[in-house]
Amino acid sequence: MRCKYDFAAYNLLSLPAFFRLLLKPTSINLTKMKKIIDNLNIASNDALITPQKLKDEMPLTGSALESVQKDRGTIFSILDRTDPRLFVVVGPCSIHDPDAAIDYANRLKLLSEKVSDSLFLVMRVYFEKPRTSIGWKGLINDPYLDDSFKIEEGLRIGRKLLLDIVNVGLPTSTEALDPISPQYIQDLISWSAIGARTTESQTHREMSSGLSSAVGFKNGTDGGLTVAVNAMQSVSSPHRFLGINAQGQVSVVTTKGNPYAHVVLRGGSNGPNYDSVHVAQCEKTLEDGGVSSNIVIDCSHANSSKNPDLQPLVIKDITRQILKGNKSIIGLMLESFIKAGNQTIPKNLNDLKYGISVTDACMDWETTEKSIIEMASKIESVLNGRRGKI
Ligand code: PEP
Ligand code: MN
Repeated sequence: MRCKYDFAAYNLLSLPAFFRLLLKPTSINLTKMKKIIDNLNIASNDALITPQKLKDEMPLTGSALESVQKDRGTIFSILDRTDPRLFVVVGPCSIHDPDAAIDYANRLKLLSEKVSDSLFLVMRVYFEKPRTSIGWKGLINDPYLDDSFKIEEGLRIGRKLLLDIVNVGLPTSTEALDPISPQYIQDLISWSAIGARTTESQTHREMSSGLSSAVGFKNGTDGGLTVAVNAMQSVSSPHRFLGINAQGQVSVVTTKGNPYAHVVLRGGSNGPNYDSVHVAQCEKTLEDGGVSSNIVIDCSHANSSKNPDLQPLVIKDITRQILKGNKSIIGLMLESFIKAGNQTIPKNLNDLKYGISVTDACMDWETTEKSIIEMASKIESVLNGRRGKI
């Protein structure tokens, strides 16, 4: 660019030179002197496969497509109270090993058939982890757990795994954390979560208003319910915001609003909130806020002080509440994997132990199976009485 005066560029000159130029304006080539003010902290910016191309590579068709449609519908019916069962979102805190995830899915499928009169099991297939500070951010962000951050491969591995799990015959759930990734995988999801750290975020509320599945909003990390109530009020309305379309172009997205948003109680910094007193308070807050009276209880996280041994006790407590006449609790969330506990990601990945979570600690498979079967058989007799709006 050629111009006579550019005071930003003059800042780079010595003072005498500056005055000389001021007294005798002259055209100077400022291209070399132009200040760079954009992208100062961007190391690289690489184009990604478009959502449509990934879907064309791994399409959802035939009986798998019908399963997702049917499973989403079952969750809508539970939320509408025309299906008196509860749904249970169950699986590892995060997916890091697709083979172990399929191993888990096969076990869960058998269990889901055993308890299907009372409980509708939905597998947790969480690819994106919100971190309190830093740490591994999930399979999409870093599929090889080695800081190589092969995000395109992460999306591919994630989509393939979701297809495989749907083909096992299970509904899937995930946390919608990144506002762009749903374009690549949401067609395979039957229930979505917005996490405690993002329930207050406008971006996540806008995104949720356009999701095709039911969506659960966690209470805040401080235990506060107001953020979730505000979220539900927001999500049922249409929104307009910046997003991307199937061809990967930046676009203006206009949503219709999601009628199936509900709260998920996960406890908070002041302790658990799954007990009957907190549930009764929650019912009142939801009613006062004019939002859905449906409550899902997350038995993990702050409801079990992140101690997986406590999750079965929370399940027992919820079972007792239901047997005593509770009608608002329509779902549970459990963090469960093949083996109990968790592990830190080792430097040498050969040292990773099979079937153990690399994020939050989980119940093992045997405890999961026992707890779910026990709950299913105990609540069976009261389910018909729970039919209909409360
Ligand atoms: C989770 O479900 O693993 C999770 C991170 O939950 P929350 O947002 O409640 O902490
Ligand atoms: Mn977790």
